Amino acid sequence: KAKKLGKNQFCVYTDEMGVQEVRKMELEKDLQLALEQRQFFIEYQPKWNVKTNQLYGFEALLRWQHPRLGLVAPGEFIPIAEETGLIIPMTRWTLEEACRQCSVWHSQGIHQPVSVNLSVRLFQTNCLVELVTHVLQKWKLDPQMLELEITESMVLYDLNDIISQLEDIRKLGVRVSMDDFGTGYSSIGLLDRIPIDALKLDRLFTNDLETPSKRAIIHAIVLMAEQLNLDVIAEGVENEEHIDFLTELGCYVMQGFFYGKPMKSEEVMKWADRAADA
Ligand code: C2E
Ligand code: MG
Ligand code: MG
Ligand code: MG
Repeated sequence: KAKKLGKNQFCVYTDEMGVQEVRKMELEKDLQLALEQRQFFIEYQPKWNVKTNQLYGFEALLRWQHPRLGLVAPGEFIPIAEETGLIIPMTRWTLEEACRQCSVWHSQGIHQPVSVNLSVRLFQTNCLVELVTHVLQKWKLDPQMLELEITESMVLYDLNDIISQLEDIRKLGVRVSMDDFGTGYSSIGLLDRIPIDALKLDRLFTNDLETPSKRAIIHAIVLMAEQLNLDVIAEGVENEEHIDFLTELGCYVMQGFFYGKPMKSEEVMKWADRAADA
């Protein structure tokens, strides 16, 4: 009898829903508990300035250690969290934890900002500025030590509202960068309206540097960014060839496996010591 039931269930799952949908539903259900059960942690990935040969900052990347399924990638759980609205409490936690960690590093001699990825959902809460203010105060963190990463797709929402919230955030002294630049709905015509401090060139550009037309695009972006007073950070820097191409094009801040993979907070001090010696 049990076997038959099992078989029936199997049929229900594969025929009507498909394996992926079942997994998604499962993750959706489990995500509700993940925060209170402390299943999240953050890995930090360094950004390195090759011109000054100094650390530029760290990006906080959220990780979900699922009790049964193991590590679930953010590419899988972030969209679910956005759909369900859970991204809001999750980001609150990430922001808080990243700021706490940054203030700990500060006391240990690392004086570089940490960046946190934001979903458009946070802007829709209309209390993002209050949240950021509160967290900075709580950890007595210099606002310059926090950077928020937004994405191009946000311009599809209420642009004027997002701009005004970003202005308030920058008035606090917090930095803002545009993540994955060049892949989304190109916001190039809006760059003079959206208040940001830096552009993060998407990894796809770095992967395609042998292509002369791609290099031309990067070069143009770098020149434009200079005129607009924006830093440019290249994502996905994996080898010396990437570094050579990028520096030739005037891009000096790099993030990628070559400099450091995302790592747990405990590993960061060791990494920083090694980087200082190198
Ligand atoms: P992202 O913000 O563009 O983050 C960079 C992603 O590229 C990270 O993937 C990082 O591990 C990966 N990466 C970094 N260097 C290299 C490299 O040299 N080569 C390759 N192949 N990959 C590299 P990850 O950690 O899987 O995160 C994926 C995306 O999930 C992030 O892309 C970000 O959009 C999102 N995400 C992560 N944490 C959060 C969060 O707390 N909140 C929100 N809203 N989104 C998050
Ligand atoms: Mg990012
Ligand atoms: Mg990115
Ligand atoms: Mg990216």
